[in-house]
Amino acid sequence: MRNDNEVRPRGRQFYFNPGPTNIPDSVLQAMHRPAEDFLTDAFKAVLRRTHTGLKKALRTDQHLLLFGANGHSAWEAALANVFSTGDKILMLETGYFSYHWTKMAQDLGLEVETIWANWRTGVSIAEVAERLAQDKAHEIKGVLIVHNETATGLVHPLAEIRKAIDDAKHPALFLVDTISSFASMPFDFDALGVDVAVGGSQKGLMMITGLSFTAISKKAMAASKVAGLRRSFFDWSAMVTVDPQRFPGTSPVHLIYGLDEALRLLHEEGVDNVVARHARFGAATRAAVRHWGGGARDDISISWDALQGSVSGIQILCTDESRLSDSVTAVFVPDGHDANEMRRIALDRYNLSLGQGLGPLAGRVFRIGHLGDMNEPMMLGALATIELALKAAGIPHRQGGVAAAMEVLSAA
Ligand code: PLP
Repeated sequence: MRNDNEVRPRGRQFYFNPGPTNIPDSVLQAMHRPAEDFLTDAFKAVLRRTHTGLKKALRTDQHLLLFGANGHSAWEAALANVFSTGDKILMLETGYFSYHWTKMAQDLGLEVETIWANWRTGVSIAEVAERLAQDKAHEIKGVLIVHNETATGLVHPLAEIRKAIDDAKHPALFLVDTISSFASMPFDFDALGVDVAVGGSQKGLMMITGLSFTAISKKAMAASKVAGLRRSFFDWSAMVTVDPQRFPGTSPVHLIYGLDEALRLLHEEGVDNVVARHARFGAATRAAVRHWGGGARDDISISWDALQGSVSGIQILCTDESRLSDSVTAVFVPDGHDANEMRRIALDRYNLSLGQGLGPLAGRVFRIGHLGDMNEPMMLGALATIELALKAAGIPHRQGGVAAAMEVLSAA
């Protein structure tokens, strides 16, 4: 509850979390409307338009379903509809979110085998290829990956994973979490041969939290007809009985209106332009961070249980240059400094909200979310403010990161 004596900072909060993200005013306004009968043809037309818009952005003409709940619901629906109790699935470890998807799969009764990775570099595709080639009996029923690990700012090469599955002539389904990559980094459902893609509303889509979606290949839909895990609310077969889809119970009308406007904005700009804008902001952010750190790059190994090695200076967590995320950058602070104290200063003193370190990264990193409804002045303002907060928190850094970011933006 708000304290009446609290002095509220003037101006808009600069919100640079990697989800939820900034919500455009027109999206908020689209939801500001009276209640409406969700069974009318008029509403069905809006719902149909959101399906069309999402499929266009996902680059698929296969199946799509929306759920009136956050990303965890689409995670659960994906698992519950294509697998049976005791099925073995191969999870490629990315970090915090692959850990939680794994936990959910285990709770549902699946056997999860993990390809482990250093969170700084991500999974070795050669190891994935080798494991699939070994599995002559095709015991592995699914290969699962979080495309962009929001906790680390590392994006995995989906085409290489698809190739590893194909080279092994392996029939496993390919399930991809696109929650923090959709509508900010390239993704092509059909061309990549993805079977199930899971997405959420509150990141690249610039919508409020509370909607998620699943794109489903024909192969995955066929698998769902024989998959044995118990399901009710999330049962795809019940949802596809009506065109474009049925929601169990009351349809989330207001969320659909918000999504409709968010998709209008997305396609007005053009998905390729949206991706290019995110690439610019990712590069600008990284230029600033590299400048602050003055070239620091330590040998650190990160897993769920441990962080080994010392951090001598500010540096980007992801060290694989080909896997840098354009939606979020995780930044190490040097040993002996607290990333959360710096975040607190940024928020309390300057009204800038940044993401915290998750799991073993708590206090060790802060995360700059540069996705969604964002432009150059916002980006530069946030980077300048981070520099102020680093100074106020006494974290050693080289001044002038904003100028480095400006170089990138003006060259783009
Ligand atoms: N997967 C990824 C990559 C995420 O970033 C998140 C949330 O941040 C989730 C899954 C879970 O989504 P939700 O919080 O909407 O349930």
